[in-house]
Amino acid sequence: RMPEPRPRPGRSRLLVLAGPTAVGKGTVSARIREDHPEILVSVSATTRPPRPGEQDGVHYYFVDDDQFDRMLADDELLEHAVVHNKHRYGTPRGPIEKALDEGRTVLLEIDLQGARQVRAAEPSASLVFLLPPSWDELVNRLVGRGTEDAEERSRRLRTARVELAAQGEFDFHVVNEDVAEAARQVVDLADTSAQAD
Ligand code: 5GP
Repeated sequence: RMPEPRPRPGRSRLLVLAGPTAVGKGTVSARIREDHPEILVSVSATTRPPRPGEQDGVHYYFVDDDQFDRMLADDELLEHAVVHNKHRYGTPRGPIEKALDEGRTVLLEIDLQGARQVRAAEPSASLVFLLPPSWDELVNRLVGRGTEDAEERSRRLRTARVELAAQGEFDFHVVNEDVAEAARQVVDLADTSAQAD
């Protein structure tokens, strides 16, 4: 009889991807969603209004404050936070528990506050920090995508400094120089040794 495979230390089927604003967390997780349909990339609920091209149920569940309050009251969120001092974001618990039960890998793309809450709720989760190649490159990306005005950009850069200072709390660090390569590195961090058949 073969011995049961043991999970690699520090690895888990629950991956949390965090990192500063504009580092490309969204792009990397979109890439993983496209290339790895077997992985559940969690869809968050948010009170932020949709950006052009964003679809409800695909990029986020766009909800109003009352709906968000109801989800909280019903204990439907694994974690939740106000991000950039502005809008509320939260991770629906149900789809994650179901996917983990099915032996699937789950990826959450959330902020630092959320990553800390998941760590507290689910100590075995693997926390992955996505880094920009440099601070200047981060600023370039934020300005380049042109989706925030100057005030919002400086708000996000303040948050980014705080987030970068917390990278030591994370289990793994991936530099986002190239999206495909960063996505591959993140996927490779998942523990696939204990998957159900
Ligand atoms: P954006 O508004 O640019 O889509 O996202 C802003 C920030 O909110 C990003 O740092 C993103 O990781 C974070 N975020 C997205 N969904 C969640 C969530 O469910 N929980 C938490 N805590 N942060 C989230």
